[in-house]
Amino acid sequence: ALSGRVALITGSTDGIGLAVARSLAAQGCTVMLNGFGETQAITNLCEELAFTHTVDVSHADADLRRENEVSGLVPRVVERFGRLDILVNNAGTQHKGPVEQHPPHRWREVFALNLDAAFHTIRTALPGMRAGGWGRIVNIASVYGLVGGVDRSSYVASKHALVGLTKAVALETATTAITCNAVCPGDVSTRIFYRNAKLLAEREQITRTEAQQRIAATNMPSGQVVSPEQVAALVAFLCTEAANEIRGAALPVDGAWLAR
Ligand code: NAD
Repeated sequence: ALSGRVALITGSTDGIGLAVARSLAAQGCTVMLNGFGETQAITNLCEELAFTHTVDVSHADADLRRENEVSGLVPRVVERFGRLDILVNNAGTQHKGPVEQHPPHRWREVFALNLDAAFHTIRTALPGMRAGGWGRIVNIASVYGLVGGVDRSSYVASKHALVGLTKAVALETATTAITCNAVCPGDVSTRIFYRNAKLLAEREQITRTEAQQRIAATNMPSGQVVSPEQVAALVAFLCTEAANEIRGAALPVDGAWLAR
């Protein structure tokens, strides 16, 4: 359904970003990956994705906390693939601890990756999307983009700001075929979730499944964590024509977290 389209997914060598890259490649999209990892592992990943879905896949290594690197990322996609139709701002980070102990340099780092990076990819991608007459921008925020939480002030603030940026860009593009939305996941079963569950299982002498359920039940009324594939499926839907008039939304995938 997306053949001929070119997508850039930031932070896509692992976790949610990788699941998004897989789902877009499965729709026939050409994919530019970004994110950290061993060179050989990334090369293998590109080859695996390209072979499985018969699409072009490449990787651009940019540290998105650095303004010069993030500003150069979209031009590199256009240089490699000739265009950019779908931009998924997924790379993100957090710092845990009370606000009065939050190191100011870490605050800047969290904002640089969670907010500024999206600003720079969007501002460099939009002219090409306008010229091409079509575009999709999806920002991976969080439930913490819509509600607060304890000991994660920079994360909550930067994700709220990312939701704000999403609304502003959606309004600036409202009369075009370019849409901009945010996806707001609750707890997602990425690598860190399984690591935490393994540690909890060892500490409490319970099975890994019990530990996973216990963690899920902490925040999620559903008692289930969200899978990266479930987040990716929503992103893929937002890239279809059926989603033409979904604009400026912040869509939860959160097991009813925000319904309370
Ligand atoms: P992850 O840690 O599993 O993967 C992060 C990816 O970003 C990796 O590919 C990593 O190499 C890359 N990355 C990290 N720093 C980077 C940088 N400076 N420059 C370029 N790439 C960088 O992350 P995840 O858990 O899949 O989270 C992805 C997004 O989803 C984040 O924005 C996060 O805030 C959000 N989110 C995650 C959860 C969750 O439970 N995992 C919940 C809600 C929202």
